[in-house]
Amino acid sequence: MTVVDLINPATEEVVTTVDLLDESAVDEAVATAHRAQRIWAALSPAARAAGLRDLAAAVDGNRDELAALEVANSGHPIGQARWEAEHVRDVLTFYSASPERLSGKQIPVAGGIDMTFCDPIGVVGIITPWNFPMTIASWGFAPALAAGNAVIVKPAEWTPLTTIRLAEIAEEAGLPPGLLQVVPGRGDVVGEAMLGHPGIGKIVFTGSTRTGRHVMTRAAESVKRITLELGGKSANIVFADSDLEQAAATAPYGVFDNAGQDCCARSRILVQRSVYDRFMELLEPAVAGVRVGDPIDDATEMGPLVSRAHWQKVASYVPDDAPVAFRGTAPEGPGFWFPPTVLTPQPNDRAVVEEIFGPVVTVLPFDDEADAIAIANATEYGLAGSIWTDDLSRALRVSRAVAAGNLSVNSHSSVRYSTPFGGFKQSGLGRELGPDAPLGFTETKNVFIAVGAATPAQSQRGTS
Ligand code: ADP
Repeated sequence: MTVVDLINPATEEVVTTVDLLDESAVDEAVATAHRAQRIWAALSPAARAAGLRDLAAAVDGNRDELAALEVANSGHPIGQARWEAEHVRDVLTFYSASPERLSGKQIPVAGGIDMTFCDPIGVVGIITPWNFPMTIASWGFAPALAAGNAVIVKPAEWTPLTTIRLAEIAEEAGLPPGLLQVVPGRGDVVGEAMLGHPGIGKIVFTGSTRTGRHVMTRAAESVKRITLELGGKSANIVFADSDLEQAAATAPYGVFDNAGQDCCARSRILVQRSVYDRFMELLEPAVAGVRVGDPIDDATEMGPLVSRAHWQKVASYVPDDAPVAFRGTAPEGPGFWFPPTVLTPQPNDRAVVEEIFGPVVTVLPFDDEADAIAIANATEYGLAGSIWTDDLSRALRVSRAVAAGNLSVNSHSSVRYSTPFGGFKQSGLGRELGPDAPLGFTETKNVFIAVGAATPAQSQRGTS
């Protein structure tokens, strides 16, 4: 076990320390989880639904504490952090309806009755990143619990506090002890132990595409089920026929929310050449207007980056000779501050190609619809994207042509708990959220029951 300091990204002060656990903690957690899962799965569907509603209510009751923890640990603006805690509550509420709705099918077959069951997988491991610690954990644990599983979460090394607290809240709310556990630890220690553990049936991984490929390789050893939510380099396509004022006013929030540490960040703005200059004129004041500052201030829209190491990575995309069009502001002094930055690089520049995961956006011109689609799709990623146009036919054509899992027209919204979320290409595998998410935490079992052949008279009654 190693004890590490957690640093407040806005002040660089030590918030607290956390024990990073080792492989033996995973063994213990899996054994406990199996016991808890048997108790949970034996409850009636209505009792499991009630348990999830109780947890949602407990999260709601602890909203301010969870939000304050995220502000201190991750540097998220307080308004955003409150929304995140409320989102966890809403995700739990949404999936609390599922235990009573996980119906199988009755399928017509010859010679008997055939039916399917949605069995829980057993123990699910969730490996989360540091950008949205509690919301991303809940996208896994809420539907997994709803489907009758136990869950073990390994939060990212830098940001474990809200996840640890959520597991405590689950126990306080009356869920079986050990049903939702958190094992803080390093990816190459606890994460690896989870990938190799025979007692874990499914891994939900959210993080970089590089680590996601590794997770997929290791999962293959035991044919573990996996869901992967990986990187993105999403396009925000602005056509000349759009409401240009609105497109420019909202573009900063499509990429700089959470300081750009968002896999759905619209980090490539593509603008039709005929309105490029006008768009840039409108974008400049919009970027300058992003309120970057103290996360505990209610008016703050963007906080610091999560850590010094991450700041250095982001800064490497803006060297002294970078093609900076303009920048917003950021506080001086302690904290991992990085001003919103707009670049106008060449199309093959690494800032255009690689996921920066910080408040840096590139702007490129395009000529026509086909050109816009080609540029938008010229990436190994395919997570999200926005299309700005007032032409409904174009909106539909381009939405169908962009190879990404989550597109929005005249908006930048990507995530709603009631709709599916996930990536094309190397942005991921499988989908989270939406009505079908609990099915991703089940195995389909088919049972055939032989029944004696019907007499002709019985058959006739059956068809009359
Ligand atoms: P980032 O580069 O954004 O930190 P990663 O994909 O490396 O993203 O990390 C996302 C999560 O994956 C974190 O919880 C991290 O600890 C975990 N992780 C990193 N390496 C491994 C690994 N080899 N096996 C399992 N989990 C890992």
